[in-house]
Amino acid sequence: MSEKISVIVWNEYRHEQENPAIAAIYPTGMHATLAAALRETASPLPGARALDLGTATLDEPEHGLSAARLDACDVLLWWGHKAHAEVSDAVVERVQRRVLEGMGLIVLHSGHFSKIFRRLMGTHCSLKWREADEKERLWVVEPSHPIAAGLPEHFELPYEEMYGERFDIPTPDELVLLSWFEGGELFRSGCCWQRGHGRVFYFRPGHEAYPTYHDANVQRVIANAVQWAAPRVRLADRCPNTAPLEALSPKSLSFGRVGMLQEQGDIA
Ligand code: ZN
Repeated sequence: MSEKISVIVWNEYRHEQENPAIAAIYPTGMHATLAAALRETASPLPGARALDLGTATLDEPEHGLSAARLDACDVLLWWGHKAHAEVSDAVVERVQRRVLEGMGLIVLHSGHFSKIFRRLMGTHCSLKWREADEKERLWVVEPSHPIAAGLPEHFELPYEEMYGERFDIPTPDELVLLSWFEGGELFRSGCCWQRGHGRVFYFRPGHEAYPTYHDANVQRVIANAVQWAAPRVRLADRCPNTAPLEALSPKSLSFGRVGMLQEQGDIA
C-alpha cells in the first residue's frame, strides 16, 4: 500500500450522456464531479491520508477495471443504475476478489442493485422507491463513527428520490446514517459491512436528476468513507494443508484420513 490512498470512482455514465437535464448537473459525468469533490474535500479525520484519484466508466475496455488497475486500487466507488446487467461477470468476480483481499468498496445510491453489491451482500437488496422531488433528512445515528466526522446531527437534501424500508440487506455491522423522507418513509442510508478483509459502505443519496453530489455534507460523508474503507491488510485467499507447530504425541489408534481433504490439499 502506498502512502496515498489509490481511489477509482466508477460510473456507469449513461444518464449524463443521454439526458440533457442530467448533463446540465453533471456536465462531465458524476464520476468527474465525485473525483473533483474528493480532491477538494479534506476529511476532518485525524491522520487522514491524501488521495490518488482516478475514474473508470462502463464503456471503457473491461469497464476501466483491468486486473492491473484493480490490483493497484485501495478504494473503489460504484455508481450504476440502468445498465447493471451490462457489467461483465468476470469484472464483478475480480472486484469481489479484491474486496475479500482487503480493498474498500463504496456503493452509491442505485448501486444497491449492482451485481457486485448483491453478490457481496447475498440478499436481493431490494427497497421501496418513488421519484417525487422529496425532501430527505439524514440523521447521524453513530456520531463517533469515522464516517460521521465533522457532520452535523442531521442535514437535509431539498430534492431527492425516496428510498424506503424494507431494504433487503443483511443487518449492517454498523449503521451510521438513517434517512427520513417528506412522504414519511425511513431508510438505512449509511451502512457498513466487513467482507473478508475488505470494508464495504453503502451510501444512499445520489439520484442522477438532482445535484446531490454537489452537496457539501454528502461530499464529506464520501471523503470520510474513503478514509474508513482504505485497506488495513492485503491477504490473498488460501486454504493450506499445514504442518503442526509442536511435535504431535504418538497415537495408539489409527484413523483413516478423509481422502478428499488430503487429495485436494491447498486447493480444498
Ligand atoms: Zn435514483
